[in-house]
Amino acid sequence: MPGQRLIWQAYPFHNKWKRKEVMKLGYNVAIDGPAGAGKSTIAKLVAKEKGYIYVDTGAMYRAIALYFLNQGLNASEIEKMKEIAEQAQVEIGYEQGVQQVYLNGENVTSKIREEAVGNMASISSAVPEVRARLLNLQRTLAQKEDVIMDGRDIGTNILPNADVKIYLTASVETRAKRRFHELLAKGVSCTLEEITHDIEQRDFRDMNRETAPLCQAKDAILIDSSDMTISEVVEKICSYCNKNLDE
Ligand code: C5P
Repeated sequence: MPGQRLIWQAYPFHNKWKRKEVMKLGYNVAIDGPAGAGKSTIAKLVAKEKGYIYVDTGAMYRAIALYFLNQGLNASEIEKMKEIAEQAQVEIGYEQGVQQVYLNGENVTSKIREEAVGNMASISSAVPEVRARLLNLQRTLAQKEDVIMDGRDIGTNILPNADVKIYLTASVETRAKRRFHELLAKGVSCTLEEITHDIEQRDFRDMNRETAPLCQAKDAILIDSSDMTISEVVEKICSYCNKNLDE
């Protein structure tokens, strides 16, 4: 079982190698990948299986996007986003093991799931001032706890020393079909073409922004879930976590 651990690292000091204690107490699993790859579904199941806390960083970007929408901003008002980003106070809590997101004290966990919020988040997350607001919150959560954290820049930027890094992806067609069926089940009317276009645009924005773009970390394990079941992916990730702990 992962418990509290201290990591020791060698570092050069006056030409001698000494051991330095690094303040990292939690076991950290990073899952990055494009929209619709199934990161949150998979991460929640791995968290349950392994006893980790699941941290959904997309929800934090959605909360700031909701703040901008509440302030009457539209997606083209980047300068205004930069100016007011610091007014959005995002906090995370857990109720019966389920992550709750608070925006300036209000629980916005359900509100941030609306399509309009997701679309705004895909644009406002590229604003450096927005990313800077969330960096410390994400790092602090992972420092003390055993977490599985999903997002776009976790393995590359937020937790470069994560114990396990996964890059979870699937073809655009697969992701679009999954998303399309999810939305239909929710009663949202849309076409597969619209969803495919939306996913392609989100991929482009996430992968091509200047600050912390989405890419596979050099030491991340690539998993393409296009032809895998959810339980196969969960099992695979759990096996990497086990392997890593046995070392
Ligand atoms: O994962 P989710 O779709 O909820 O994330 C909402 C948006 O937040 C994404 O479209 C992505 O642009 C952004 N995001 C990000 N970095 C993260 C997590 C999400 O840029 N670590």
